[in-house]
Amino acid sequence: MRIQENVSLRDHSTMRLGGEAHYLAEIKNIRDLQEAYSWAAGNHLPVIMIGRGSNIIWRDEGFGGLVMVNKIMGREVLAEDNHSATLKIAAGENWDEAVKWSVDKKLSGIEYMSLIPGTVGAAPVQNVGAYGGELAYTLLELEAFDARLNAFLKLQNHECGFSYRSSRFKTADRGRFFISSITLNLRKAPPAPPFYESLQRYLDEHGIDKYTAKTIREAVIDIRQNKLPDPEKVSNNGSFFTNPIVEAAKFEELKRAYPQIKGWPVADGRIKIAAGWLVEQAGFKGVHDQQTGMATWPNQALVLVNENAQSTQNLLAFRQKILDKVQQMFGIPLEQEPEILP
Ligand SMILES: Cc1cc2nc3c(=O)[nH]c(=O)nc-3n(C[C@H](O)[C@H](O)[C@H](O)COP(=O)(O)OP(=O)(O)OC[C@H]3O[C@@H](n4cnc5c(N)ncnc54)[C@H](O)[C@@H]3O)c2cc1C
Repeated sequence: MRIQENVSLRDHSTMRLGGEAHYLAEIKNIRDLQEAYSWAAGNHLPVIMIGRGSNIIWRDEGFGGLVMVNKIMGREVLAEDNHSATLKIAAGENWDEAVKWSVDKKLSGIEYMSLIPGTVGAAPVQNVGAYGGELAYTLLELEAFDARLNAFLKLQNHECGFSYRSSRFKTADRGRFFISSITLNLRKAPPAPPFYESLQRYLDEHGIDKYTAKTIREAVIDIRQNKLPDPEKVSNNGSFFTNPIVEAAKFEELKRAYPQIKGWPVADGRIKIAAGWLVEQAGFKGVHDQQTGMATWPNQALVLVNENAQSTQNLLAFRQKILDKVQQMFGIPLEQEPEILP
């Protein structure tokens, strides 16, 4: 394992902004992980583990510690019966390639999350989800290095604190666990309706009535490719704000003022509002902001794009314009999805 010094972090975030890492190492196996961590601990340096950088933005000041880039590879089928298969996938694998691998095996459960950028190891951190699926529905357990106990351990699904786009890895235990693999249990039965509304609409419009993991994956890929920019070509972090959840009374009040507002009930009776709609109504659809070099994606205003921003400061200034306008119009404070590091 090689520890590099003064490495630009721009290529380690798909927003392509931010300063330098004092130290950076590619972690290719468990031994690298232990060695790198011990080296940093011995030098009293903070450590961050990342994957592809599709959900992070680096500050202009950079990071004064060690960035560990997870490149641990490997996939295996651990067990199989007539109904399901148990797959173990190393954290550095590309998430979408892992989805394809499972779909090629005619297994169902994660096809709804096709084409989500990034690595397998980051998927539990925000409990990745899309089109009605989320990682927590199929994850059995994961393996991680626990920096507090200085040991590798396994965490079962119920120990991960999963919720909507969140987990203990993103909240109470942020930075404590370095995930090295995940284990999923996927079904052999094909996916069955009811499907997520926009997915079902796509299936109907395209006359697809044979539901398999493959047909669902292809549908999701087509929908996503039409709506979202490819982060390898266009600098962005996907949805920049999460969908806010408001009390039913607040939603009714908004509906009187904005009859077109889009919302859907969640389990506790509150209403989740489409953040993209709020941003669009606030006048930020397809905007190119000359002052900051930032833009919003024409097909999805929720995606902030770095066209020619000079710094993370530019991005934060553009973000503030959106936050202020949405707050002023709707009285809703939007929450940011990608994490600003450190
Ligand atoms: C165009 C686009 C579309 C997207 N669509 C979706 C979507 O539909 N649904 C969705 O949920 N997300 C979506 N995202 C967000 C992103 O793809 C996911 O959050 C993904 O899991 C991030 O993976 P990554 O490897 O890039 O993680 P990074 O951005 O590198 O890291 C994200 C976080 O995880 C931590 N982390 C990473 N790897 C590890 C590890 N091995 N151990 C411990 N901590 C780790 C990092 O420290 C950081 O806190 C989208 C992003 C883009 C750019």
